[in-house]
Amino acid sequence: MTYSIIDHFFDVIVVGAGGAGLRASLGMSEAGLKTACITKVFPTRSHTVAAQGGISAAFNNAEDGDDWRYHFYDTVKGSDWLGDQDAIEYMCKNALDAVVELEHMGVPFSRDENGNIYQRQFGGHTIEYGKAMAKRACAAADRTGHAILHTLYQQCLRHNTEFFIEYFTLDLLMDDRGICRGVIAWCLDDGTIHRFRAHMVVLATGGHGRTFFTSTGAHTCTGDGNAMALRAGLPLADMEFIQFHPTGIYGAGCLISEAVRGEGGYLTNSLGERFMEKYAPKAKDLASRDVVSRAIAIEIKEGRGCGPDKDIALLHMEHLDPKIIAERLPGMHETARIFAGIDANKEPIPVQPTVHYNMGGIPTNYHGEVTKDSKESVVQGLMAIGEAACVSVHGANRLGTNSLLDLVVFGRAAAIRAKEIIRPNTHHVNLDEHITKQILDRFDKTRRASGTLKTGYIRTQMQQIMQNHCGVFRTQENLDLGKEKLNECKKMLDDLQINDQSLIWNTDLVEALELQNLMIQSITTIHSAAYRTESRGGHAREDFPNRDDQSWLVHTLAWYDDNLNVKLDKRPVHMYTLANEVEAIPPQQRIY
Ligand SMILES: Cc1cc2nc3c(=O)[nH]c(=O)nc-3n(C[C@H](O)[C@H](O)[C@H](O)COP(=O)(O)OP(=O)(O)OC[C@H]3O[C@@H](n4cnc5c(N)ncnc54)[C@H](O)[C@@H]3O)c2cc1C
Repeated sequence: MTYSIIDHFFDVIVVGAGGAGLRASLGMSEAGLKTACITKVFPTRSHTVAAQGGISAAFNNAEDGDDWRYHFYDTVKGSDWLGDQDAIEYMCKNALDAVVELEHMGVPFSRDENGNIYQRQFGGHTIEYGKAMAKRACAAADRTGHAILHTLYQQCLRHNTEFFIEYFTLDLLMDDRGICRGVIAWCLDDGTIHRFRAHMVVLATGGHGRTFFTSTGAHTCTGDGNAMALRAGLPLADMEFIQFHPTGIYGAGCLISEAVRGEGGYLTNSLGERFMEKYAPKAKDLASRDVVSRAIAIEIKEGRGCGPDKDIALLHMEHLDPKIIAERLPGMHETARIFAGIDANKEPIPVQPTVHYNMGGIPTNYHGEVTKDSKESVVQGLMAIGEAACVSVHGANRLGTNSLLDLVVFGRAAAIRAKEIIRPNTHHVNLDEHITKQILDRFDKTRRASGTLKTGYIRTQMQQIMQNHCGVFRTQENLDLGKEKLNECKKMLDDLQINDQSLIWNTDLVEALELQNLMIQSITTIHSAAYRTESRGGHAREDFPNRDDQSWLVHTLAWYDDNLNVKLDKRPVHMYTLANEVEAIPPQQRIY
């Protein structure tokens, strides 16, 4: 079938209206570039709205002597030395300005008694290289992402960013020279198909937590931009690195923020022991997330889990002053009530490690430009930022509150770069029609799929495979078995059944397209995990328990083609900084 197409011409197209997409859109619009922001959900419903605990920035304040160089050190260490140190330096150095800028835009940060921005402790953030915990997480109660997202959206409106809301982007328009020329999107509201031409496309489509069965991510976290990159023949980086947050609510998977432990909460096992003291003698409950998640998994494995099935840990905040809870953790109290049915002022919350964040994604340099090989050659016309990207500031494990920071710092960086390389209102080259046709053929084929298996069925199979074969602890045997099972699962997509063929609010079709996207990311994730024969950060191999810097101080790159072939390669980690204000930190043992 042929679709009629509505054409649009912009300087920049930003796909995604989470924190990253909005910060980039704002910067691009301010720079005088004609900018459109396309989003499949209403901007303020993007997953960033759910971010709770805070955004990190060292304030250099006299009180605890914090300094951005300590933040740099903590982030390098937290990344288990896999983070690119030039990008980490850029992020930590710009953190203070980024937070002050947000405040000036109108983010209603909580205040301390002196009227300054309130900062709390968070896992892995220290002063003087691990000597004491830092107070570095700037918070708006426990609804920081909500406050930031709303403010950024208002600022974008003020600067005339054009929004295309509830438009589902299908794929990138890549010309035969490998240059990105725009995107094709489907308007969910009236069923029309749109071709957006641009000199720069910025993918800010968020993470892909929904490859797993339990995830703190929204159901919309399907990594569509990552899948678009794979289909365009580009690689994804470090896909094996998935962050399991230690405190997802048992059963529901919703997040109980690390802010609870930052305010003095702690974990216990079935013997009532505060077991984190064993695993991280100094940082205890505020060790970094991979460490705490593994500790819970070990306690459960060794029979010291709580609950009837001995498969949970207990998170305590009932000893905290109810006034503090009401003021600083109101959302957590409410979440525990709704999803665990308990009053957290009186009893502990049952928790389990839950998929929370994707360190891997579309490889970029610190300007946000997408790179395509081990030499880091730049893809013209394409940028990626936020959780969709792997810049890589989080390396093998992200520190809490560093993602919100990543969004605004690299959203801004992308706009600065775009301003340098794009001349506003310039001509768009002609594009061969077959490029658009290929994208719409895939769309049409999915729309008319008349097999026997429903999207929900195949999705559950895929998520269970990821949960069982690519979880907190991994082995070669289990990963290889998972690879085979996923190949079989991918074949199920040939027998997909779509009941509704209409083009207006067809959620059946949206979910099927999202499932296709999730599937190829699951496959690249499990192949990358089987490839990396060491343990580092969020990637814990029982058969290779040690970090192996000799062979694996490298990023993984994974390409995918539709014949179920995954190609893997490595690229060196940047062990250097940009200026001489801080020196790169060579690998050390990682102890908390
Ligand atoms: C529950 C929770 C709590 C968190 N708390 C914190 C915290 O306290 N501090 C911290 O630093 N980090 C936190 N994180 C992590 C952080 O919030 C996320 O990593 C971050 O918000 C991701 O932002 P983003 O802009 O990259 O993507 P998102 O906010 O996920 O936005 C993605 C955007 O892309 C759009 N999109 C996707 N696919 C398409 C498509 N096909 N077509 C059109 N549009 C599309 C969506 O509509 C959306 O607008 C938390 C995460 C979760 C899940």
